[in-house]
Amino acid sequence: MRLLLVEDDEPLAQTISTALIAQNYVIDVATDGEEGWEYTQAFTYDLILLDVGLPKLDGIGLCQRLRQEGYSGPILLLTAKGASTDKVTGLDAGADDYVVKPCTVQELFARIRALLRRQSASGAPVLEWGELRLDPSSCECTYQGQLLSPSPKEYSLLELFLRYPRRVLSRTTILEHLWSFEDPPGEDTVRAHIKGLRRKLKAVGAEDVIETVYGLGYRLKPLPENTTSKQQQTETAVARAWDRFKEPIQERLISLEQAVTALSADALTEELRQKAERDAHKLVGSLGMFGFVEGSRLAQEIEHWLEEIGKIDPPSIADRQTPTMGEPQNVPTLKSILARLRRELEQHPKSEDDRLAKGLLTVTETQLADQPETPLLLVVDDDLELVRQLQIEALNWQIRVEVALDVTQARAAIALQLPDVVLLDLCFSNAPREGLALLEELTQSHPGLPVLVFTARDGFSDRVAVARLGGRAFLPKPVTPAHVLEAVRDGLKRTKPLEAKVLAVDDDRLLLKILRRFLQPYGIELHTLKDPREFWEALEVTVPDLLILDVEMPHFNGIELCQVVRNDLTWGGLPIIFVTAHRDPKTIHRIYQAGADDYVSKPVTEPELVTRIFNRLERTQLLRSLAETDPLTGVANHLQATKELTRYLHLCDRYGQPLCFSLLDLDNFKQVNDQYGHVIGDRVLKRLGQILQQYFRSEDIVARWGGEEFAVGMYGLNKHDGVTRLFDVLQIVRQEVFPVSGAVQLRMTFSAGAAEYPEDGTDLQSLYRSADRALTRAKEAGRDRVLPF
Ligand code: GH3
Ligand code: MG
Ligand code: MG
Ligand code: MG
Repeated sequence: MRLLLVEDDEPLAQTISTALIAQNYVIDVATDGEEGWEYTQAFTYDLILLDVGLPKLDGIGLCQRLRQEGYSGPILLLTAKGASTDKVTGLDAGADDYVVKPCTVQELFARIRALLRRQSASGAPVLEWGELRLDPSSCECTYQGQLLSPSPKEYSLLELFLRYPRRVLSRTTILEHLWSFEDPPGEDTVRAHIKGLRRKLKAVGAEDVIETVYGLGYRLKPLPENTTSKQQQTETAVARAWDRFKEPIQERLISLEQAVTALSADALTEELRQKAERDAHKLVGSLGMFGFVEGSRLAQEIEHWLEEIGKIDPPSIADRQTPTMGEPQNVPTLKSILARLRRELEQHPKSEDDRLAKGLLTVTETQLADQPETPLLLVVDDDLELVRQLQIEALNWQIRVEVALDVTQARAAIALQLPDVVLLDLCFSNAPREGLALLEELTQSHPGLPVLVFTARDGFSDRVAVARLGGRAFLPKPVTPAHVLEAVRDGLKRTKPLEAKVLAVDDDRLLLKILRRFLQPYGIELHTLKDPREFWEALEVTVPDLLILDVEMPHFNGIELCQVVRNDLTWGGLPIIFVTAHRDPKTIHRIYQAGADDYVSKPVTEPELVTRIFNRLERTQLLRSLAETDPLTGVANHLQATKELTRYLHLCDRYGQPLCFSLLDLDNFKQVNDQYGHVIGDRVLKRLGQILQQYFRSEDIVARWGGEEFAVGMYGLNKHDGVTRLFDVLQIVRQEVFPVSGAVQLRMTFSAGAAEYPEDGTDLQSLYRSADRALTRAKEAGRDRVLPF
């Protein structure tokens, strides 16, 4: 716990802080009110200790200011003896408690503990998590009654986790709470202390108490839930699934029996053997899922036998004269295993076995449990066959899978443990709208959490609805598990810039504070700057991945700063987001004209700010990582697009999906160059690239095909839906004011042609020709329109 002590009496400050440090608290000391204020603006404190009589700004004044500015943590006043009016004014000013000086250290500690307790979630004097206990008054930690001996830092770390038991604590947050101003460590230090603490916990049998949340930080591993209702739901789901699976399982069993019969008659063909081996393999997986642990093992044995038999020289199988297959000792063994398997399956799935209930939800969990860094995928789907395949496939991708069979289960699972990525089926057989509702909820409450959507429906309106609600990829069913997991991995990659650095420049301290509060939970490293005169220095020192600028500031306004950045060779490409109270079109226009990427209007709300920052970071970091990006427009270049499109065409073949390929060409663009010069022409191209990227979703391919021609590939859409979307974009472009210089503004339009795979072309070349022909028609018809082939 990190405390601020504001006390001008130095010997007293020294005594108090030494005593507190001995109790494992982290202390910063400020010696006057103004300095105390500065500290609170720069750092995060769990409690503030305030002397009343202070130079510059007294304790009461500071307390009032802190409360006015929204500080909600505990404040403890140190008042001089006898000045009883101090207490009243102090409490009125928003202090939580006071101690009268001189006081004993014990009394002070007791007050501090009481205040911190009030802050923590449970409010109990002893902090507990399962069998783990920490008593702040004696600094004693135990697990199952066994004493733990953490180092002071490890103790503080554990206390922090226990005080915020359900929160993910980023490394930055931990740093802020546990290290003082004087000894700032690196993030590796946090990692090292976490490791040390884990080791000590493990030594007393408390394994995996602290889990790593991929890309975000650490938290206490959620305790197992005892509610029977969840288990019952799972059991019903399993029973239902069993009814559905009985038949295919029977068929697989029959296939095995046929193979064994053929083997004993020495008539096992390679084809039959391969089929049986595949079926045995499928049984291994599905039987395990239904709790037939023994059945799964037997199927595995059979699979192994069949595999071994396959290794015998194939010609000898076909050649009936050499009875190699007839090795008679195989057959009886196989027959008996098969018989045992049959008997095993005649029983009901062991729904009373709680291993089963767990088994369905966390098949992969146990296998990956010792790798705390593996990301967690929550699959919300009632398609059990797909879910099972995903669980198996996920092992290869080092991804843990948790399953929710409906929206209610999904909410419960998320409340219990926030996944790293969610895969959502939009179309539950019984409640089609619920999926969309959940999607909306998730993007609102967890803007950084990637939600991938798939569905059996693939209508245009679905895609638009998903895009509007902030869903990421869109995978029309049926999809292979590998395809899904590829998208999942992509989704995870995009949450990586969570470790990004952001520099915010604003003369308004409150806003900087709000930004900090919003961004910290996402692990974004925020650097703030109040004085724009120090901007360039701050920029070079922090090397941010994104810049947040206020418009109105003294000395230099944000627009000027933005222009300076844009004109710089090194920094020119830095993403810039404005935060502004002005929503008038003129200011917005000025902002974009200066080269901003986006703006957020005040009052700033968390979901909006976070979403915009993430979108921006995602785009730039993702694209930067691809060498195949067109440097001017930021979209993919021809080569990259060709690769991606080719891959998509394969997917189209495999899943019988269409793809809409379209070409966009700016109208009369040459005139822009001729009239205003190529620099302005370039700016127009760049802005168009931005608009296209903003409009199309991540799974669409947007590319600069060459010159002033762009290509867009939309997987799963036919050309008519494609034309509708392009027309949407055309309307956006028509309304866009392209900056030229001074008062001169430019309006642009484009023409586009759309072709559909495989109808209008069976490969990329022919598809391109068809789209180009449609584009030519659009130009001939007077430009400013979108036509299908
Ligand atoms: P249309 O409506 O028929 O498409 O007319 P247009 O003027 O747009 O087409 P045209 O093909 O005659 O001219 C294309 C222009 O695009 C000519 C070329 O200088 C310009 N151009 C191509 N690449 C770039 C670029 O990277 N930057 C700039 N500024 N201009 C470019
Ligand atoms: Mg301002
Ligand atoms: Mg052209
Ligand atoms: Mg053109």
